Amino acid sequence: MEIAANRLDRLFKQHQEEYEKAALRVLRSGWYILGPEVSAFEEAFAKKLGSKYCVALNSGLDALVLALQALEIGEGDEVLVPSNTYIASVLAITENKATPVFIEPDQYFNIDVSKIEEKITTKTRAILPVHLYGQSCNMDIIVSIAKKHNLFIVEDCAQSHLSTWDGKFTGTFGNVGCFSFFPTKNLGAFGDAGAIITQDKDIYERIRKLRNYGSDKKYYNDLEGVNSRMDEMQAALLHVRLPYLEDFIRERSAIAKRYLSKIQNPKIILPKVQPEATMVWHLFSIQCQDRDELQAYLAKEGIQTQIHYPVPPHLQQCYQYLGYRKGAFPIAEGMANEQLSLPLYNGMTIEENDYIIDKINLF
Ligand SMILES: *Cc1c(COP(=O)(O)O)cnc(C)c1O
Repeated sequence: MEIAANRLDRLFKQHQEEYEKAALRVLRSGWYILGPEVSAFEEAFAKKLGSKYCVALNSGLDALVLALQALEIGEGDEVLVPSNTYIASVLAITENKATPVFIEPDQYFNIDVSKIEEKITTKTRAILPVHLYGQSCNMDIIVSIAKKHNLFIVEDCAQSHLSTWDGKFTGTFGNVGCFSFFPTKNLGAFGDAGAIITQDKDIYERIRKLRNYGSDKKYYNDLEGVNSRMDEMQAALLHVRLPYLEDFIRERSAIAKRYLSKIQNPKIILPKVQPEATMVWHLFSIQCQDRDELQAYLAKEGIQTQIHYPVPPHLQQCYQYLGYRKGAFPIAEGMANEQLSLPLYNGMTIEENDYIIDKINLF
């Protein structure tokens, strides 16, 4: 059996006719940037999350960059961020000329909330929690620390659409919630796309301007903005997909549940979920001391796996100037050496799911 790490073709086929109808509607409309499709999607996405405002953007990275920019975080400011995140969370900080301050993750692969306060200085302006792999961080504690020290919270929800902490959606705790709709994300577009949600009218208005050259009124530029607009095509296609998001998550959860109950191999550590959190299973990341061997073995059996992420941000070449050496963040570095993401996609068959389980149990 050949099993790919992802099968976006199968996801597409589940509602193919609806996508094709929406795409044709946009093509024929004669209007392609910032129009009715974007406004309708923004309204629907905000409503789904119970948020006041949404601004559609062209990527998850831009959502994070513009969120920090709207909060006027820049040179000389420090932002607390997990040491095991995807590079985009950190790029958003350095793009704004602020300094990332790394905090090691806990056993749930999320920022270890017991280690946040010791890293707060007079320069700290914000916490940037990342709800990694689809599980919410401990937002009770993060919110209370932010209140106590007067810090902003910018949530990286690129992997956590509809994931909750204590019944409340990720993205609605902080000043800004930042989402990616990269095609492989749980809510994926057919190209690049992203969005922010916020309850704050001022932040909403600033980010709306920033995404469009800093302008709300054509040829009048209030802010030094960028071009980060979601196009009408992506908005229309995402709007088709949005009502099915709960179905997608249900299907992903069923696959994850089979992995959790049927993988039995002392060499493998399975992912854990905190009782207050819901997990939307963007990724199913296991840990294994012989990770590279396991990955090669699975590849030989026809199973493609991925490593999220092989190099933590502080050891990336682009961040050599931050001055960190190997060993600076041993927990994140250990995870980078031991983690492996199993195939988990909408449209996976039970036969595929069981084949992967069997092969892992035989390792
Ligand atoms: C995907 C991702 C991003 C960036 O989103 P893009 O739309 O690809 O720019 C940011 N943070 C995390 C945690 C991600 O997984």
